Amino acid sequence: MSFFDRFKKKDNKKEEPKVDNKEKFAVKKDATAPSLCGCGAGKTAESVEANYSKMADLGELLPGAPPGGKINLAIYWAAACGGCDVSILDTNEKILTIGDMANIVMWPIAADGKEKDIEAMEDKSITVSIISGAIRNSENEHMAKLLRKKSLIVVSYGTCACFGGSPALANLVAGGSKEILNYVYEKTPSTANFQKDYHPGKPIVPQTKCTVPEGDLTLPTLFDTVKTLDQVIDVDYFIPGCPPLQESISQLLKAVVDFAYHGVALPPKGTEIGVTQTSLCDQCPRHKEFRRITKIYEPFQVNIDPDLCLMDQGILCLGPATVGGCNARCTRAGQPCRGCYGPTLEVQEHGASAMTAIASLFPVLDDDGTIGEDQIIDIMSTIKDPLGYFYAFTMGKSLIKMAVKEKGGQ
Ligand code: SF4
Ligand code: SF4
Ligand code: SF4
Repeated sequence: MSFFDRFKKKDNKKEEPKVDNKEKFAVKKDATAPSLCGCGAGKTAESVEANYSKMADLGELLPGAPPGGKINLAIYWAAACGGCDVSILDTNEKILTIGDMANIVMWPIAADGKEKDIEAMEDKSITVSIISGAIRNSENEHMAKLLRKKSLIVVSYGTCACFGGSPALANLVAGGSKEILNYVYEKTPSTANFQKDYHPGKPIVPQTKCTVPEGDLTLPTLFDTVKTLDQVIDVDYFIPGCPPLQESISQLLKAVVDFAYHGVALPPKGTEIGVTQTSLCDQCPRHKEFRRITKIYEPFQVNIDPDLCLMDQGILCLGPATVGGCNARCTRAGQPCRGCYGPTLEVQEHGASAMTAIASLFPVLDDDGTIGEDQIIDIMSTIKDPLGYFYAFTMGKSLIKMAVKEKGGQ
């Protein structure tokens, strides 16, 4: 299933492309590790490791320019923290190979290349644009549209670009950008004191336009709603992760190399690169006993059993609702999955899916000891910031935002 199919109901666009070498880019599920419920029952540590080693195939990146001459590559960050750019630098010495095969026409964090240079280029003359970050303001949107116009292939890189990431949690602020700016520049203790001391009675909040003796200065407009990249432009491929693994960028580069050097067809439009077909639990080596939850703990509150599923230990883990691909980095380190790779391929509403998985572990079945509604509410109420927990990375694709919009008439 392509990224577009998954969110079709909501976004209602995109078509399935003709070429089909999709299998090459998805991490294959190990046939010896079946899981009917998506929770990793039946997995073995060996099968998990074997599965991951397939993903770690970096492919052979060829040195020198492709036969048709160097390709053009643009890397851009919208509302991003910079971690996605650093993950591209994690290609280490292969970054030199990238330099051999591509003119890097824009990469704000690492190279020169100005907006006017991109504007001067012919349409579709950039072979691939890799865009990280959510669309948070008018500049992000303008640059995304400009790069789309100039590029053959656009890649939505990282969780913020694919699902909104943490910036999209701002969509829960009912008053939108005005309320956010008001809080940040007038209400926080430090800014409130600053405004009181330096601008008494007339607090200064950044404006989109301001005139100084040298001329007009402008700032981008902050949007009320943070958007994902594919809610603003047409996107060809998606690489989730906060940030994505080095293996994922290598798989993308391999596809581009095959395309540029050997004329190999690109993967189908909408392909999510570097994800498995099942949930993260299938990659997690922890043993699952499906114990009933009667109390929820923070990781620091318990001595974590290194082999047992974290949910069995009362620690909320979004693994059952999250697509595999990262090789369960967090759970291997004793921390619960927070869902940065986004929902499993069949799921659209990540947080609701995670809540359902957790609710199924409450002792409410006939053969369980009894537990009443009040007790369930008590257990759930111990979760601090439930929306922030269950939608830490995917609010940009959540239906919750749509519901708020309709009700509030925004
Ligand atoms: S996906 Fe993660 S690493 Fe990438 S920009 Fe967003 S917050 Fe940063
Ligand atoms: S620790 Fe998390 S990812 Fe691992 S098996 Fe348990 S629920 Fe799944
Ligand atoms: S375990 Fe979960 S939160 Fe951690 S990297 Fe993997 S998908 Fe992201």
